[in-house]
Amino acid sequence: MRAMVLHRPGTALVEEERPTPAPGPGQVLVDVEACGVCRTDLHVVDGELPDIRTPIVPGHEIVGRVLAAGRGARLAPGIRVGIPWLGATCGRCGHCLSGRENLCDAARFTGYQIDGGYASHCVADERFCFAMPETGDAANMAPLLCAGLIGYRSLVMAGEARRLGIYGFGAAAHIICQVAAWQGREIYAFTRAGDEASRAFARRLGAAWTGSSEEAPPAALDAAIIFAPVGSLVPAALRAVRKGGTVVCAGIHMSDIPSFPYAILWGERTVRSVANLTRRDGEEFLALAPQVPVRTEVTRFPLWQANEALRRLRTGELQGAAVLVP
Ligand SMILES: [Zn+2]
Ligand SMILES: [Zn+2]
Repeated sequence: MRAMVLHRPGTALVEEERPTPAPGPGQVLVDVEACGVCRTDLHVVDGELPDIRTPIVPGHEIVGRVLAAGRGARLAPGIRVGIPWLGATCGRCGHCLSGRENLCDAARFTGYQIDGGYASHCVADERFCFAMPETGDAANMAPLLCAGLIGYRSLVMAGEARRLGIYGFGAAAHIICQVAAWQGREIYAFTRAGDEASRAFARRLGAAWTGSSEEAPPAALDAAIIFAPVGSLVPAALRAVRKGGTVVCAGIHMSDIPSFPYAILWGERTVRSVANLTRRDGEEFLALAPQVPVRTEVTRFPLWQANEALRRLRTGELQGAAVLVP
C-alpha cells in the first residue's frame, strides 16, 4: 500500500510504500476511495495537539470499501464504509456509559493515534465505521465524516437558535450552512476582512447576511458557532449574541482567548466547546444529509499531493473541502 506519513510534527509528510496491514479481530481492511483533509490534520502535522503517535498516517474523513474482515468482524467485502475521527473508546467509563463517548479518556482517534486515510488502504474497528451510500462520489461524501459531523454536533449545541452566526467559512461551515438554511434558520456568516470569495460562497449556500468578523451583525444573534481557530473571535461572538445566547467553539485547537469584560458574558450567555463526536451523531447526521440534501464542494488532490492540499488549506485558498483521492 501507499501512504503519506508524518514522522515528526513540523515536517512534511513523506510518501511511502508499506506492507498492506492485515485486519485484526473485529477490524476491517478498507480500500480507500477518498479521504478529506481536515483542519485538525493541520494541527496534527504542526504538533499543536498533545499525544500524537508518530509515525502516523493522518486523515479521518475516509470513504472506502471493505476488502477483508478480521476474525469476528461482520462487514462483508465490497461494502462501502465511512471511517471518522473517533476510532476507539473504552466502552466502560462514565462518559461511555452515559452517551458521551466523545469524552472518553481512553478514546483513540483516526489519523492521530490510529493510522488514517492519507493512504491507499487502512484498517479500522468495524464498530466505529458508518454505513455509506453504495452509489455516489466518494470524494463528495468524505467531508461529511468530520466537517459534517462536528458541524452537526455544533449546530445541535447551538440549540433552537433562529439567527445563527457562523465564524470562519471553511469545510464545516459550508456543510452546516446548508443544513441550517434548510431548517429555516437565518445565517450570518463572518469571514476574514476582505474575503469576498468566501462571502459570495456563503451567500450561495444560503447565508442571509455576510460580513467581516469585526463587524456587528444587523440584528443580535441567538447563537454563534466558531469554526476558525482564532481565540479573539470568542469575545467578538459574545458581543454579537443576545442575552441567553450561546457561543459554540467547534475546533479542537484555538489560539488563546483574550481577556474580555464580564459584561459581554453577563445576561446568561454561554460559551462552550464541542469535542469529537459520538457514533450517534454520525448516524443522525448521515441520515439527515440526504434529506437536505447537502452538496459538498470539493477540490480533489492525488494522494501524493497531500502536502500541497494541507498548504492550500492553511493559506485559505480553498473554497469548501480538500479531498485526497488515492
Ligand atoms: Zn470510555
Ligand atoms: Zn476533522
